[in-house]
Formats: sequence, structure tokens, C-alpha cells
Amino acid sequence: MKKTTAPALVVFSGGQDSTTCLIWALKKFGTISAITFNYKQRHQVEIECAKKIIELINSRKNVNIDWLEEEIHIDHIVVDISFLSDILETAMIQETEIKHDDETNLPTTFVPGRNILFLTIAAAIAYQKKINHLVAGVCETDYSGYPDCRDATMKSLQETLQLGLDYEVEIHTPLMWKSKADTIKLMKEMGGFELYKYTHTCYKGDRPACGECFACELRLNGFKEAGLKDPLEYKIK
Ligand SMILES: [Zn+2]
Repeated sequence: MKKTTAPALVVFSGGQDSTTCLIWALKKFGTISAITFNYKQRHQVEIECAKKIIELINSRKNVNIDWLEEEIHIDHIVVDISFLSDILETAMIQETEIKHDDETNLPTTFVPGRNILFLTIAAAIAYQKKINHLVAGVCETDYSGYPDCRDATMKSLQETLQLGLDYEVEIHTPLMWKSKADTIKLMKEMGGFELYKYTHTCYKGDRPACGECFACELRLNGFKEAGLKDPLEYKIK
């Protein structure tokens, strides 16, 4: 992968996929900024995980990535969009049951328009900071069918943002066609695998993770398929 000196802004949740994207971006781009959204998601622990991961990389503690430059500083921006919890009802925000909604054919954790909103805010910040590259961990494969994670949505959004800002903005989605196992293997190759210990996935918000919810199950299956042991702590062994 060729490195450019151009800066990039990574949409970073503190989860497994966006942490992989963060390392990918560090490898590909010059200076890196990361943006985390607080939309009053069920588990504020996710935001704490995001902060912790950035702190670890910036201080190079517990991070053994041989190609990482000595002087690394990721600028971390946390944006409060907690008004979302007042206007939307979803199991990702409220304490309602996580299940498959037969009417929408989506899990009840779907937050309508979330990635469109995230990337629009990220693009506005990128514009002001003179950044042309956005990185998002959205994925069409192996996912729950969220329509705002699709490649077509991202391509169309990129065009809309370029037009609406009259600015060259490119949305990079390195995980778009990867399975969970492929993403894990990519992280292993890049040397960031141990950082998965600090990522958050569990829908119950448990740390150690419950190991039984839909999200934990999907995560564990990915590691199983990749033939690697998840460094995250689980309640069940
Ligand atoms: Zn869980």
C-alpha cells in the first residue's frame, strides 16, 4: 500500500471495524484525525474505548506496530449529537429489545441515516481543516443489511458532498467487500491486532464482553473463521 502525505479524517467508533480503518489510514495517509460521535448510544463505554485506543496509539503503549512513526499524534474529535436520542427510537439508543424487525427486514438496532449524518458532519470538519480524505468502516458484506453501509450509498454521498461543498472529498471504505474474517486478517497483517483487546462490540455493553449476544456472536465467528484468538476479554471462556 502506497503512503501519501495527504491528511485524512477517520470516522472512529471504537469498534473492531473502525479501529482496523484507523490503522489502515495511519499506514496510507500523512497526519490522521479521528472523529467519534456521541449520539447517546446505549453504551457510552464505546466512547471510552475510542478514547483509550487513540491514547494507546499516541503514547505507543501496548502498540507494537513496527512501521508506526516515532512521533505520532492522532487528533481526536468527539462530537456530541445526543439530540438523536430525542428524535429517534432504536435499540442502539434506547433500552428496547434487539431483534429482527420483520417489517423493515433490519435489526431493531438500525439508526436511520446514521452514517449519512456522520459523514456529512465529518466532511464539514474536513472542509475546514483542508482534509480531502474521509475513511469509514462501513461494509456491505457480512453485515446486517444497513442500507447506509452500502457501496452505492457511499458513492452517491461522496458525489453529493463534493457538489454541496464544492470541494474534493473522497470517502475511503477499505472494508466494504471484506468479511469479518478478512478484516481481522488485514489487521493482523498491519500489526494492529492487539488493539482489538480495547475495541467494543458487545450489544449488551458488557466488559468483559458477554460472548452471547448477536454482536459478540458475529465477532467470535469472524475470529474463528480467521483462525485467530480474539484478544478481547469475554465472560464465557
Ligand atoms: Zn455481547
